[in-house]
Amino acid sequence: MTVRREELSRATESRLASRSPAFQRSPWETVEQMVVGAGPETIFFGNGNPAREAIPFERMREASERTWAQIADTAGAIDYGEPEGLPALRDMIADRIRNRGIETDRSQILPTTGSQQAIDFICRLMLDPGDAIVVEGPTYLGALQIFDAYEVEYIVAPVDDGGLDVNALNQMLGLRTTMPKLIYTIPTFQNPTGVTMPMERRQALVDLARERGILILEDDPYCDLWIDEPPPPAIRSLDDNVAYLGTFSKTIAPSIRSGWVVVPAGFNRMMTLVKEIADINGDKVMMRTVLNAVPGFLDEHLIGSRALYRSRRDAMLSGLDRYMPPGTAWSHPSGGFFIWVTLPDGLNAIELLRLAVSRFGVAFLAGEWFFPGYSWPAASRMLRLSYSKHPEARIEEGLKRLGSAIAAALESR
Ligand code: PMP
Repeated sequence: MTVRREELSRATESRLASRSPAFQRSPWETVEQMVVGAGPETIFFGNGNPAREAIPFERMREASERTWAQIADTAGAIDYGEPEGLPALRDMIADRIRNRGIETDRSQILPTTGSQQAIDFICRLMLDPGDAIVVEGPTYLGALQIFDAYEVEYIVAPVDDGGLDVNALNQMLGLRTTMPKLIYTIPTFQNPTGVTMPMERRQALVDLARERGILILEDDPYCDLWIDEPPPPAIRSLDDNVAYLGTFSKTIAPSIRSGWVVVPAGFNRMMTLVKEIADINGDKVMMRTVLNAVPGFLDEHLIGSRALYRSRRDAMLSGLDRYMPPGTAWSHPSGGFFIWVTLPDGLNAIELLRLAVSRFGVAFLAGEWFFPGYSWPAASRMLRLSYSKHPEARIEEGLKRLGSAIAAALESR
């Protein structure tokens, strides 16, 4: 991935921290340059936003009105304070994640500005420059941006149909003299592959982490958007030494920035202070709005969301069947938003993207962008498709275009 860096004077550059390169370039700029500028007629299978049809606009409007009425009547509700978040919201989250097998209470739950902030907080508390961490290869691009800012050494664990390959990781760690501090995993409907780690592997990962003294950072934004059957219990249900991240970004809307972390044992007070230092307190208006919106509503709403995503996933799987040339392979997710495609031998996803955007009006994200350094030759044949945003007919049309683009690329090989 080519990333633009802002022009800096030598004087400015000499004053910047060693972590500053992480703040001088964004992989999303490349995505925007290559894809978003392509025009409205381009079918973009790229982003991780929920379907517009699944956003509960009316419920949030009502909840917001109730919120402002309550705030006007409640002393302190609009003032600074309570970095630990609204107690009733924390109770509600504790209650909701019981369906992930997690038994906890408000003392362990810290609401955050999206799970993105929670990843940053864990890193802030735990990582010194040069510390090693384990990430899945491929993994969530936004998490890599955070880890880059902490100047980590990456250990990239392979991912197969059952998620992070724990045996392979064990062997890799056996060759090292120093252990990583963290294992970052998305075990359920992974971003970007869509795969889910079975229960035995979750247990094996916990055993490995315990044996080697490593903390697991479990990121679980898609768990409620299962399609075929509910996913296995969270890794956190097996061990309190896991930081567990959740969010309302995918089930309500991303821009409300409402997520949480179930803190690892012993981290409560420190995490609250990290929050206080970062932004004094989270958005109490939005926390209250979420608290007013979710009970008695979200579970019912999710039934409709699942049906919508089921139909879109099925449209994408059948479109892939119909339009992909022989030699193309893809994952079969049972939830979340993403399908991971492997192109026929000899093709390169970034080159294909250029061709697909310029001549065929379809776009996706290249697989290499989901690896440290945003470049990973071993993944050059891979790409991510998202089925969340487009209606079925548009998905079918997009895959038809993608099939033609791949056929054209194969011809000109
Ligand atoms: N983790 C993963 C795996 C994601 O896919 C996303 C959103 N794309 C996030 C975290 C960020 O979520 P939030 O909006 O809660 O910060």
